[in-house]
Amino acid sequence: MKYMKSFDVIVIGGGQSGLAVGYYLRRTPLRYTILDQEQAPGGAWQHYWHSLRLFSPAQWSSLPGILMPGGPDYYPTRDETLSYLRHYENKYQLEVQRPVTVQAVEQKEEAFLLHTSTGVYHAKAVVSATGSFRRPYLPEVPGREAFQGTILHSSQYLSPAPFQGQRVAIVGEGNSGAQILAEVSQVADTLWITSKPPRFLPDEVDGRYLFDVASRLYEARQRGEAFMPPSLGDIVMVPPVKAARERGVLQSLPPFQSLTSDSLVWPDGHQEKVEAVIFCTGFQPALDHLSPLPVSRQDGRIATTETSAREVAGLWLVGYGSWTGFASATLIGVGRSAKKTVEEIQAYLSAR
Ligand SMILES: Cc1cc2nc3c(=O)[nH]c(=O)nc-3n(C[C@H](O)[C@H](O)[C@H](O)COP(=O)(O)OP(=O)(O)OC[C@H]3O[C@@H](n4cnc5c(N)ncnc54)[C@H](O)[C@@H]3O)c2cc1C
Repeated sequence: MKYMKSFDVIVIGGGQSGLAVGYYLRRTPLRYTILDQEQAPGGAWQHYWHSLRLFSPAQWSSLPGILMPGGPDYYPTRDETLSYLRHYENKYQLEVQRPVTVQAVEQKEEAFLLHTSTGVYHAKAVVSATGSFRRPYLPEVPGREAFQGTILHSSQYLSPAPFQGQRVAIVGEGNSGAQILAEVSQVADTLWITSKPPRFLPDEVDGRYLFDVASRLYEARQRGEAFMPPSLGDIVMVPPVKAARERGVLQSLPPFQSLTSDSLVWPDGHQEKVEAVIFCTGFQPALDHLSPLPVSRQDGRIATTETSAREVAGLWLVGYGSWTGFASATLIGVGRSAKKTVEEIQAYLSAR
């Protein structure tokens, strides 16, 4: 059977993870392409809120090969991160095709068929690097349909302007929750709802910490030692969050039980009127395109050994979070997973 579009390796997703894999693939003789459903480079960074800055300084925020400009004390903006990713793609002339949506991946005679919005592709190996932005998690809350105000997920939040003068509940104890709270509380009266007491990292700790921990974990593994990394879900005290603390807005309330047309209701019957609720409740990996494959899933994840899918030879998953490599959902961390993945792909294809 002859296919028009046949490659050794197809990478699904052209965000930072897909580009890092592309960086190492282009140094091999393998024929590869990257299929990305966006109209433009930058992956999820195109959709983040306007004021977002990286939580680690530029010097600790680079993909392999090109240093993010700005040095050790500058925290790049969302737009600067987008320019960096655009430049990265151009400089290395990475083979990215867009917009192409991969709808389904199926196995075919020790290879894969990828059904996409622009036709069928054939690949001997597949790397899924689709991130999680496309799968925001919104909890089921009784009364959600009855609520007359605005409900949105952090993935839809762009700026505080629409909430000027309102009473707004921000739900979630992660970094997105703390940062959106910090911003919205400058123009609105806010309530912060967290499922457990928020945990703040010490002021002097920032995203560099991720890199240090990733390196320590990697070295411990090389030596065959156990190393339990500290929690990465804790809140980084970026300047807007520190300023919010000064203003006294980082006080949190326990979870509410339900919504009425205009209020949050707690189990003891206490109610608070709000005009908007912003759920900063995270994401799940975007893996629907892998549904036809015989992979088992738990908590939305696919079983892997580092990035290699345990149940399907020839499939790798890069960038989704610590389950695919420590700190692999960061610019600085994904390079290590990408390098190892490409080494494994080369070994796999040459052994066939
Ligand atoms: C609020 C916030 C702040 C953050 N701050 C930082 C930070 O300071 N430093 C840092 O390093 N990281 C940070 N991160 C994490 C980082 O932004 C993400 O982990 C990163 O974008 C993941 O990159 P990715 O390439 O894996 O996924 P994405 O950037 O989501 O890219 C995946 C790409 O795959 C495409 N895609 C998805 N499904 C398909 C499909 N079926 N077919 C074709 N294409 C598909 C998508 O359109 C997208 O272009 C932050 C994240 C958030 C939410």
